Amino acid sequence: MDSSSSSAVIIIGAGISGISAAKVLADNGIVDLLILEASGRIGGRILKESFGGVSVELGAGWIAGVGGKASNPVWEIASKFGLRTCFSDYSNARYNIYDRSGKIFPSAIAADSYKKAVDSAIQKLRDLESNSVDDVGNGAELHLTAKTPIELAIDFILHDFEMAEVEPISTYVDFGEREFLVADERGYEYLLYKMAEDFLLTSEGKILDNRLKLNKVVRELQHSRNGVTVKTEDGCVYEANYVILSASIGVLQSDLICFRPPLPRWKTDAIGKCDVMVYTKIFLKFPYKFWPCGTDKEFFIYAHERRGYYTFWQQMENAYPGSNILVVTLTNGESKRVEAQSDEETLKEAMGVLRDMFGPDIPTATDILVPRWWNNRFQRGSYSNYPIICNNRVVNDIKAPVGRIFFTGEHTSERFNGYVHGGYLAGIDTSKALLEEIRKDERENESKSFLLEPLIALSGSLTLAQSDAVSGLQKCEVPTQLYLSGKLGIPEAIL
Ligand SMILES: Cc1cc2nc3c(=O)[nH]c(=O)nc-3n(C[C@H](O)[C@H](O)[C@H](O)COP(=O)(O)OP(=O)(O)OC[C@H]3O[C@@H](n4cnc5c(N)ncnc54)[C@H](O)[C@@H]3O)c2cc1C
Repeated sequence: MDSSSSSAVIIIGAGISGISAAKVLADNGIVDLLILEASGRIGGRILKESFGGVSVELGAGWIAGVGGKASNPVWEIASKFGLRTCFSDYSNARYNIYDRSGKIFPSAIAADSYKKAVDSAIQKLRDLESNSVDDVGNGAELHLTAKTPIELAIDFILHDFEMAEVEPISTYVDFGEREFLVADERGYEYLLYKMAEDFLLTSEGKILDNRLKLNKVVRELQHSRNGVTVKTEDGCVYEANYVILSASIGVLQSDLICFRPPLPRWKTDAIGKCDVMVYTKIFLKFPYKFWPCGTDKEFFIYAHERRGYYTFWQQMENAYPGSNILVVTLTNGESKRVEAQSDEETLKEAMGVLRDMFGPDIPTATDILVPRWWNNRFQRGSYSNYPIICNNRVVNDIKAPVGRIFFTGEHTSERFNGYVHGGYLAGIDTSKALLEEIRKDERENESKSFLLEPLIALSGSLTLAQSDAVSGLQKCEVPTQLYLSGKLGIPEAIL
């Protein structure tokens, strides 16, 4: 057990933002760093698991924002390392909407309902904007008018998945509107290992570097003008000049990490204002396919009078032919409800929905996988969701450092929060800000020692106690102003 060790920078969390932050520091010569990760692996919300004979992504699954003028940096990394991906075309989902008796809504009705939902959401958004409300909820106001099952289903797709047609999303504006599903046995997380390889000691795909410590749950950050003391659940203590904290917004809202002294009010207020989205992909394995296949059938929708009740489905045939896997996505309230019940109960519900759509004779799934992002104390949700109309101050305050603690993570990305590339770019930004701070510190220290040099020379003729006091001055906060202002004579300032 590490009783106490000291580093220039400690990075808390080894998700994409923590790893990209560490890489920037290492690239800039800060190699005296330590990464403390609560779980037993790197990747955070990028997490694969073997299921039904293939590798499925429990967390981030898509590289969103491809094909635009600017290049998505995560797409670039994926291309560089040959990650296998498949193009996902959501636009057909609206023509594969099933009612509870298994009939597909005629495309004219579906298109009409879709257009109405988009128009109404745009109108409501304009109303909110013209009322110049500073901070409003996360869109609840936008879907009050949806009533029928098809309206509710479309409303769910528009608001709980993508607002692209309602409000421009920076990801699509900047990087393009195409999305690619990661379908690679090595998982999306392979990209993180490749990034880590650049600055951590690795062998045969394993990270051996002891600057990465897994299963280290940070519980306390004691911070002062001189540094930060980090205490972990297993009783270890680590000292650092600076800390980069990449824990999710859900974790920051929880009491997992105690700050001493507590975070200032402006910070906790901002953290409290950001909503946490829960997004759950439930995987179901079947003995054979009973659903229609083809690229225009990748996604299908179930219209039920309960909003968000097993609404959005995806078949994995395009990604993994022959895998016989379906994925259904739940969000927020439905996610939390399902997380709290047994997987058997969830399987029963999902099968009820599938039998509504495809008839009573379809086989029961042989396996089910239900991730629990909400109940994971190292996540407490899936990603940040800023109010639709939100002033930039909230994000800026969430991102702003408090003393020697710097904040990073997807939730600190003004333009791309909620996405993998948001986390990646946030890590880079945070480390650049920290490097600037470190350089500023160094410049200040240099000028302090320059000013102290004559004093140090003088110390040769001082008593032992006096010269101790002079050398001590370089380490602690030097009262430069006092002796420069001439209010005290030099010997008085020293002693
Ligand atoms: C179900 C789901 C689907 C998603 N789909 C997509 C998608 O398709 N495309 C996309 O771009 N994005 C998607 N996202 C979002 C994306 O995964 C995240 O935005 C991104 O991975 C966040 O990275 P991060 O580094 O900010 O945080 P994280 O990956 O959460 O990293 C933070 C790390 O900090 C660790 N930690 C937390 N508390 C402590 C502590 N006290 N001590 C030590 N370590 C701690 C955690 O264990 C974690 O490893 C999805 C997320 C989820 C959950």
